[in-house]
Amino acid sequence: MEAFHAGLQTKLGKVSLYRDEGVVLRTHKLGEADRIITVLTKRTGKIRGVAKGVRRTSSRFGARLEPFTHVDLQLHTGRTLDVVTQVETIRPYGEALVADYPRYTAGVAMLETADRLIAGEKEPALRQFLLLVGGLRALAAAEHEARLVLDAYFLRSLAVAGYAPALDACARCQATSVRAFAIVAGGVVCGNCRPAGAAVPEGETLALMLALLKGDWAVADASEARHRTECSGLVAAYLQWHLEHGIRSLRHVEREPAT
Ligand SMILES: [Zn+2]
Repeated sequence: MEAFHAGLQTKLGKVSLYRDEGVVLRTHKLGEADRIITVLTKRTGKIRGVAKGVRRTSSRFGARLEPFTHVDLQLHTGRTLDVVTQVETIRPYGEALVADYPRYTAGVAMLETADRLIAGEKEPALRQFLLLVGGLRALAAAEHEARLVLDAYFLRSLAVAGYAPALDACARCQATSVRAFAIVAGGVVCGNCRPAGAAVPEGETLALMLALLKGDWAVADASEARHRTECSGLVAAYLQWHLEHGIRSLRHVEREPAT
């Protein structure tokens, strides 16, 4: 990363400039004319920066710093927030998505999930960045059903975050004769390990989940609508559980007294 940083001596002292590319995850207003943008970058990880004057109609940056846009950025390091000094558009994925409601909402869910799965700022998350760009590109290209692309993104970003569901052997004992899907157990479970309340999806649904996790699009595209629906329900519940419990368990760890 050093190569992308350049020290600059000014009257005010040392200002550190850096350049990176990233996808704008969200923006919010700051004061009269500024915006804070949250970007998942390729090398630096998640960053938050101030884009000054972007809400004025004369702003050069404004349209380039909208959610979904893949941008090349230059920032200088601030004491609390970095300041955006240059922006170039690499690819405006939002333009392709905004005209198609299912694709747009799938894209919004991707941006939100990336933002929540990557909690820390300036911690490199290259695989998450590549997954997000790949997901947005697939949505914009419209080669697969939007919900399939979204479910594949959910499963793969969870896997990168360390929460891959077990799909081909029991999450608890590794037995290969699986009977049910239990979120609390971490995926499929055998008859012996099955907790109360575990879902019993069809075999084709589990095969679809595995295909989405592996990126096997020939299998995923050939799947039936009812298996897609069942798969989406399980993936959404699994994601939701990990997002909520991930944060809760982290708090629990921080409060644990030293032993
Ligand atoms: Zn088992």
